[in-house]
Amino acid sequence: MSGIPPEIAIPPSTCPTCGHTHDAAVEIAGRGRPRPGDLTICFECGTILVFTEKLAERRAEPSDLASLNSTERSQLENAQAFLREFNRRHGRQPNRSNPI
Ligand SMILES: [Zn+2]
Repeated sequence: MSGIPPEIAIPPSTCPTCGHTHDAAVEIAGRGRPRPGDLTICFECGTILVFTEKLAERRAEPSDLASLNSTERSQLENAQAFLREFNRRHGRQPNRSNPI
C-alpha cells in the first residue's frame, strides 16, 4: 500500500458498536464509492460493518463474511491490522470483539 487513499464522503452513519459517527470512507479494495452490501471497518473500534441500502452501517453477520474469497479476507485482515497498529501508536484501544 502506498499511503492512505483519499476519503470518500458518505451519508453520516453511526457505528453500532462504539457510536462513532462516520461521514467518510477510505477504499481498501473495490470500486470507489461504497455501495449497499459492501463491507467496511469502523476506524474507531475495528468492527466489521456492512453498508445498508441507504449507506447506513450495520454490524456484519457471519453470512456477510461467508462469501469472501481468500484475497478479500486477507484485505479485511490487513485493514484490521493496520487499524490496530494505528490505534496502538495513538494510544487508543480498539475493539477486538469482532474478529473475522
Ligand atoms: Zn465503531
